[in-house]
Amino acid sequence: MYFADEPDHIIQLRDTLRRFIEREAPREKRQTWRDAQTFPRDVFARLAELGVCGLTVPEKYGGLGQDWVAATAVIEELCRAGLFLAGPYIQCAFYGGGNISESGSEEQKAALLPDAAAGKLMFAYGLSEPDVGGDLASIKTRAHLDGDTVVVNGVKRWCTGADWADYIICLVNSDPDGQRYRNLSLVLVPGDAAGITRHELTHQNLIYTNSFDVYFDEVRVPADNILGGRDAWNDGWRRLAGRSLDVEKVEVAAMTFGLAQAAVEEAWEYAQQRRQFGKPISGHQAVRHELVDARTKLEACRHMLYHAAWLVDQDRPATVETSMAKLFVADTAVEIGLTCQRVMGAYGLSEEFDMAQTVRDLIGMPIVGGSSHMQKNNIANRLGLAE
Ligand SMILES: Cc1cc2nc3c(=O)[nH]c(=O)nc-3n(C[C@H](O)[C@H](O)[C@H](O)COP(=O)(O)OP(=O)(O)OC[C@H]3O[C@@H](n4cnc5c(N)ncnc54)[C@H](O)[C@@H]3O)c2cc1C
Repeated sequence: MYFADEPDHIIQLRDTLRRFIEREAPREKRQTWRDAQTFPRDVFARLAELGVCGLTVPEKYGGLGQDWVAATAVIEELCRAGLFLAGPYIQCAFYGGGNISESGSEEQKAALLPDAAAGKLMFAYGLSEPDVGGDLASIKTRAHLDGDTVVVNGVKRWCTGADWADYIICLVNSDPDGQRYRNLSLVLVPGDAAGITRHELTHQNLIYTNSFDVYFDEVRVPADNILGGRDAWNDGWRRLAGRSLDVEKVEVAAMTFGLAQAAVEEAWEYAQQRRQFGKPISGHQAVRHELVDARTKLEACRHMLYHAAWLVDQDRPATVETSMAKLFVADTAVEIGLTCQRVMGAYGLSEEFDMAQTVRDLIGMPIVGGSSHMQKNNIANRLGLAE
C-alpha cells in the first residue's frame, strides 16, 4: 500500500508533469490566464499529448487503462499551476472519460472514449439549478421522450465551461409522477444544441473558465444520448450516486490537496526569502510553527486522499472513505490556505503571487462536489448512526 515509495510509473509521471508545469505554466502566464478567466488551449493540447487523459479510460477504448491513483496524482501535480490545467483535465478525463467508462452504453463508449482519452472531448456538469444545490434529487429540469428524441426544458445553474464543453451531462427529471430517485436520467446534451442559451455568472473561485446559467428551451437530442442508452431512462440516480460519485469525491479532494500543497510551497519559499528584524521570517518561531502545522496537516490530507484513491482503484467499497477524504481534505485545506496566506503578510493578498487566488479556490472546496455537511450526512447514514 501507500505509506512507502510510490510505484515507479507514478514517480516518473510526477517528474514529467513537474517539468511540464515549470516550462509551460510559469507564474507570469498564470497571472495572464487569471486576469482573462480562461485556460490555455494550446498548453492543454500539449498536456494531452503526454497521454494523461487516457488514465481514466480502459485500453479497449483508446485509453491507458484506468489507474485512479495515477489520475489523482495528475490532478495534484497540475494544481501547482492553480486550476488552469487541472480544471480542463478534470472536465475531460473525469467528467468525460471516467463517467462514460463507468456509465455509458457500449455505443457511447466506442464513439466518445477515444477522443476523451486523447484530450479532444470536453464535458460540463449540468446538475445544480437555481433552487437546487445539495438536494439534487429535487431538480426541476424536465425531459420527456418524443419517439426517438429526448426533449429537455429547464435551467441549470453554475454550469462550468458550458460555453466550450462538447457535451453537458444534464441531470433531468424524466418522470414527474415517478418515485423519488427512480425518476431521474442523465442526458448528454451537445453544448451547441438548438434551444440552449447561456447567462454568465460571476464568481471568485474556479476561475480557469466561466460558469453559467444554462437555459434549455425545447432542446431536442437523440434518445441514444441518454447516458447508458435507452434502458437507462429513469435510472440516472444510480449512475450519478454510484461508483462515479466515489471517483468525483476523490477528484475534488485531489484538486483541493494540490492547491493546499501549492499554498504551503509558496509560503515556505516566501518565508525563507522575506527578512524582517534581521532574519528570514521563517526564523521567527511563530511563523516557523505555522508553516510546520500547515505541512503536518498537508501530510494528513495526503494519507486520506491516497488511501481513498487506492480503494477506488482496487474497486473496493469506498463510499465512507471517499466522503471522509473529501470532508477532511476540504476543511483542513481551508485552514492550511489561511495559515499560509497569513505567513505571507500583505503579499498573500497581492495578485503578484498565486496565494490570493489559491485561497479563493480553497475556500470553495468545502462547498462544491458535495458540501462538508452533506459528506457528514453520508458518513453518518452509511455507518448507521441512529437518528
Ligand atoms: C464556481 C462554481 C462552479 C460550480 N460548477 C458547477 C458545475 O459545473 N456543475 C454543477 O452542477 N454545479 C456546479 N457548482 C455548484 C455546486 O456544486 C453547488 O454550489 C453545491 O452543490 C452546493 O449547492 P448550493 O451552493 O446550492 O448549496 P445548498 O445546497 O443550498 O446548501 C447551502 C448550505 O446548507 C447546507 N445544507 C444543505 N442541505 C443540508 C443538509 N441536508 N444537511 C446539512 N446541511 C445542509 C450546505 O452544506 C451548505 O452549507 C459550482 C459552484 C461554484 C461556486
